[in-house]
Amino acid sequence: MAVPPPGQEPAVAPIRGDELPRHVYPVRSLGVAAGFLAVATVFRENGTSLALLVLAAFHGFAWPHLAYLAARRSADPWRAERSILVADAAFAGVWLPLMGFNVLPSVLIASMTGLGMVSVGGPRLFAIAAAAMLGTGTATMLLAAPEMRFETSFTVMVACLPLILLYPLSIGVANYLLRQRIRGQKQQLDLAMRTERLSGLATRQHWEEALEREFERLRNAGGTAGLILIDVDDFKSVNDRFGHLVGDEVIRRMGEALRGVLRPGDVACRYGGDEFGVLLPSSNAAGAAIAAARLLESVSGFRLASTPELRCTASLGVAEVRPGMRDSIEAVALADRALYLAKAAGRNRVHVIEP
Ligand code: GH3
Ligand code: MG
Repeated sequence: MAVPPPGQEPAVAPIRGDELPRHVYPVRSLGVAAGFLAVATVFRENGTSLALLVLAAFHGFAWPHLAYLAARRSADPWRAERSILVADAAFAGVWLPLMGFNVLPSVLIASMTGLGMVSVGGPRLFAIAAAAMLGTGTATMLLAAPEMRFETSFTVMVACLPLILLYPLSIGVANYLLRQRIRGQKQQLDLAMRTERLSGLATRQHWEEALEREFERLRNAGGTAGLILIDVDDFKSVNDRFGHLVGDEVIRRMGEALRGVLRPGDVACRYGGDEFGVLLPSSNAAGAAIAAARLLESVSGFRLASTPELRCTASLGVAEVRPGMRDSIEAVALADRALYLAKAAGRNRVHVIEP
């Protein structure tokens, strides 16, 4: 993908430079076709030459498609699209004097062109486009010396309606679609930031925030929550015997096992290394112990195709989060203590600290 020069593409572009032509194409096609209708109607009224009508038809019907192809093929579509937008404005600058500055279509074409520039390239592109329009407008005035015919007839007014109605609407639709897309991208980004990549579980930070919120909720509403800390047994030796890629696969499987065993609403995280944390909101030590037993069984069932001889076990510490505790860290410390006791008792087991 071509990278636009600094200062040209917004720092966080919702659409990539190479996507811009596809984004602008339908809006431009509609705008110039509607513009042609207004211009051609004025030309007909003013008896303007057929050659100019043909030029206007080229701009109205051939230009957007040629521009699209050119921008798509460009090595730098963002820059190409901006140049084409300036060319759009330059074209518009020609039509205004040639229409004798017929008031309604002239004002409309100038303002709609401005609208298109601002919506794609902001005030900077608007200023460049305005200069281009002024330049071609002045040149046309000097070269063609057209007769001024400001008055707008009813027929021309009617011919302007598609431009009035459709062009702003199409820009609105394009901007709406863009906003939807930005919202989707933001959701993806939020999810990615909350997710630990290897296990696909929540990050420790996200988990601790969820625990903190649950603790506050329990303080206000009463009740308890369950907490499990899990550590893979002898994980170092898995790495040593089978390599770190196999170790990584075990971490991935741990993520799958946790997702498989837990209920919606439970929050599981990779706490760090081979350690995992689970929060079971509105549960208790007994409920967490049942979930922990299921996890223990799931871990002992791990079979990797690459290393069929590998067997995994884990140790799990279970505790309860209670509103009377000093803070949520106290509950984590209890679960950690339970985990330590499970390890000390010989691993591959669940230890529950009864409330
Ligand atoms: P224990 O039964 O006492 O838990 O023994 P252990 O060998 O599992 O000891 P420990 O839990 O301290 O081992 C953690 C190891 O996990 C050390 C580190 O090399 C390894 N590890 C941490 N993160 C990753 C990872 O992302 N991938 C892999 N493959 N290994 C990791
Ligand atoms: Mg371990």
